[in-house]
Amino acid sequence: MEISNMLNVKNLEVYYGLIKAVRGVDFEVKEGQIVSLIGSNGAGKTSTLQSIVNDVKKTGQITFMNKDISTMKTHKIIQSGIALVPEGRRCFQNLTIEENLRMGAFNNDAKYEQLQEDMLKLFPRLVQKRHQLAGTMSGGEQQMLAIARALMSSPKLLMLDEPSLGLAPKIIGELFETILRLREEGITILLVEQNAFAALEISDWAYVLENGEVALEGKGSDLVHSDDIRAKYLGA
Ligand code: ATP
Repeated sequence: MEISNMLNVKNLEVYYGLIKAVRGVDFEVKEGQIVSLIGSNGAGKTSTLQSIVNDVKKTGQITFMNKDISTMKTHKIIQSGIALVPEGRRCFQNLTIEENLRMGAFNNDAKYEQLQEDMLKLFPRLVQKRHQLAGTMSGGEQQMLAIARALMSSPKLLMLDEPSLGLAPKIIGELFETILRLREEGITILLVEQNAFAALEISDWAYVLENGEVALEGKGSDLVHSDDIRAKYLGA
């Protein structure tokens, strides 16, 4: 059976003043899949994610669940079911874990209690620390909190920007396990990673960005074995 596209991005261009950071990118994310954008520093991955939810200078068409969201306001896009976990996690350092989770539920207040319980089940490590300030937690715990906070808006599509950045290998393993678990729970994932090997291993489909363009696309399991990809991105 054909799986329907949840997100369609067509001819996306993103500008910072006169700089064109993304140059006519096309990609799609099918429902229930993990799709990755990989590529070196400055390839345009973050700009692409940001342009989906934020008001940046862009052209092109972004369709989410058959609705054109290209010019929609951020809070409406979040309401329609997209959440972004930004690069660097950006937890509210001076708020407790519970307060961070409440911030994530700003659009979803009626479901707050139930969602908070679900999050603490999904991330048991956060339970004992629920009254602790986010700023006192480790990088890995803050990444889990950033994901939990994004999930508080009950997204259908979760976008993660460099979630493994700065984390120890053991914690990266746990993080990727968590991402797989989220897919099992029916959440579609769009993942941006410099850790190309780990991302490709769990991806149903991946796009390689180079200089703001899609250079290559394919199944994660095929790309991870491609000599070209291994030489360029996997240090092989
Ligand atoms: P990284 O992994 O380093 O974040 P990336 O693939 O996510 O890389 P982007 O951050 O999207 O790439 O950057 C794409 C291009 O846009 C780069 O040339 C970058 O220097 C430029 N760029 C990004 N943000 C800005 C900004 N706020 N102002 C000007 N140029 C920017």
